[in-house]
Amino acid sequence: MTDKIAKLLIIAGSDPSGGAGIQADIKSATANKVYAAAVITSLTAQNTQGVSAIFNPPTSFLKAQLDAVFTDIKFDAIKIGMLATKEIIETISELLPKNIPLILDTVMVATSGDLLLEKNAVEALKSRLICKAFLVTPNIDEAEILAEMKIKSVEDMKTAAKKIKTFGCKNVLIKGGHLKTSDKKIKNILLAENNRFYIIENARIDAKKIHGTGCSLASAIASNIAKKQEIVKAVKNANNYVFKAIKQNLTVGKGSKVLKHY
Ligand code: PLP
Repeated sequence: MTDKIAKLLIIAGSDPSGGAGIQADIKSATANKVYAAAVITSLTAQNTQGVSAIFNPPTSFLKAQLDAVFTDIKFDAIKIGMLATKEIIETISELLPKNIPLILDTVMVATSGDLLLEKNAVEALKSRLICKAFLVTPNIDEAEILAEMKIKSVEDMKTAAKKIKTFGCKNVLIKGGHLKTSDKKIKNILLAENNRFYIIENARIDAKKIHGTGCSLASAIASNIAKKQEIVKAVKNANNYVFKAIKQNLTVGKGSKVLKHY
């Protein structure tokens, strides 16, 4: 008999310095008390100052990893992060099991400015993965690219969320951290399956550059979904978790700070 713990599969890229990517995902999932399995899409050579190289193992090996885990383990949720190329997106899309909630973090560019998804892969992201997602979690820059519009206000965030929902996902969370607001609050906009908007706010922490927040938030939400929390509660709890991890941040290298997960 398998243990009762909720099981999350993370499909994402590696950050060897541990602040972002699959390393952050596993920390976030573990701190949120789920079992984390991890299939690696892409290997970055990276530290807290930026990305110096990217190597994508052949998609036949990605397929082998996915086959290995899917034929053995029954997951309660799947979180997808860095995808790097159109071919990686297509491989995953073909092998994703139905009926497992998919939390898709639409990773495109790192905080350092490094490109984590080839520009020609955006259409495949929409038509092969967003359409299957339970939740997508773009930041403002990613939402602008996906919805093909400029976002300057909360109203624009709502319009973009509606547009992204037409690609077929059930819920859309646009993270507001990159939007300048007058009241020093970050406003994250959730457009839920019931077509209602929820504004999930938190104070803006002046932590200078910090990286790994997007990965950690999506993994915390995916953990909560794996534990069967409903969407609004899952996002609120994950937001509180990441807020605390940012507040108590760590300096581990010469560049960006990282989250302190526990
Ligand atoms: N490296 C990897 C492997 C990632 O998946 C991500 C984001 O998802 C990043 C780096 C960038 O993280 P950040 O933008 O928080 O620096």
